[in-house]
Amino acid sequence: MILCRQHLLGEHYEHHMFVGSLRSGRIKFGHYAGMLRIRELSSRHGELVAEMLARGYNHTTPLRHIDVIEVLGLEAYLESDPDWVEPEIDVKENERELWRRCVSCRTRMVELGYRFPIPFTEEELKNV
Ligand SMILES: [Zn+2]
Ligand SMILES: [Zn+2]
Repeated sequence: MILCRQHLLGEHYEHHMFVGSLRSGRIKFGHYAGMLRIRELSSRHGELVAEMLARGYNHTTPLRHIDVIEVLGLEAYLESDPDWVEPEIDVKENERELWRRCVSCRTRMVELGYRFPIPFTEEELKNV
């Protein structure tokens, strides 16, 4: 995973914030824009946690799929609005953004031999 410590922990925290906001009703299904997808909250959280543990960070905040599906009422929502489509996330664009903005992420990408399908401009590569 290319995320630096700050961005790994940041995205993980975002998951818990997002679920908290859904639970409190501050964010409603069908009315949000952002980096997270409700259907993938639980699996993505699991990936982030696996990476955190592999790096020796602590994780004490379980987020179970059932919390998203049952407590938050996703299935009931989908029944009420069957045409609802979750916003798409442009993963590659997000990664390019991290490359531009975060030296630590960029360093990890270089170390991991990361290759983008779309090459960077000469100008961007000069900043590596
Ligand atoms: Zn967690
Ligand atoms: Zn970073």
